[in-house]
Amino acid sequence: MEQIADKVWKLAGRPQHAFNSYLVGDVLVDARTRHAASRILEELDGHSLNAHVLTHAHADHQGSSAAVCTARDVPLWCGEKDVHVAESGRTTAAGTGHWISRWQERNWAGPGHPVARALRDGDTVAGFEVLEVPGHAPGHIALWRERDRILITGDVLFNRHPLTGRPHLAEPPLIFTRDPRANRASIRRISTLRPRLACFGHGPVLRDPGLISDLADRLPAP
Ligand SMILES: [Zn+2]
Repeated sequence: MEQIADKVWKLAGRPQHAFNSYLVGDVLVDARTRHAASRILEELDGHSLNAHVLTHAHADHQGSSAAVCTARDVPLWCGEKDVHVAESGRTTAAGTGHWISRWQERNWAGPGHPVARALRDGDTVAGFEVLEVPGHAPGHIALWRERDRILITGDVLFNRHPLTGRPHLAEPPLIFTRDPRANRASIRRISTLRPRLACFGHGPVLRDPGLISDLADRLPAP
């Protein structure tokens, strides 16, 4: 894994930047698809782990959650409104029901796992503040560390073109976004933070807060 900031590491992932997990202090953020479990556990080997948190309970984030929590005996945490999905593994319930979401649930999702802590706005996770940023999923959260302006965005924004795989900052694809209007409000909220380093669920990290503000300014009016 690659250290990208003080106490923040980005796990390798395959293909690179396609599905991201981060280690923040001793908390794993997101666990990709169920096919990534052995690679995630290998990378975490030798690192202390006290919890695993989901930015949201879609199949490409919770896929290996149960496997990691069981293997490392750590609790699972997620946003309050995604708890029922994280616990059931029925990931389309936090999505749009589009056939691709159903395909992802069949092919990528992992089993449900009990959630030990439901996160709310203002909670603290490994020195980061929890921000409730619904839209892409009802219980979507981001993690924000004011002291060095680091933001873990999950899928509020994508920094990877879903077809070309190239770095590309944009709204998440509408076919996977439960409530695009709410997600746009969430984008506006995080753009006002002007993060010095933004870490996405998909795509490479971004060190230019101006690009996020520019995108927020170009969004359709609320
Ligand atoms: Zn995703």
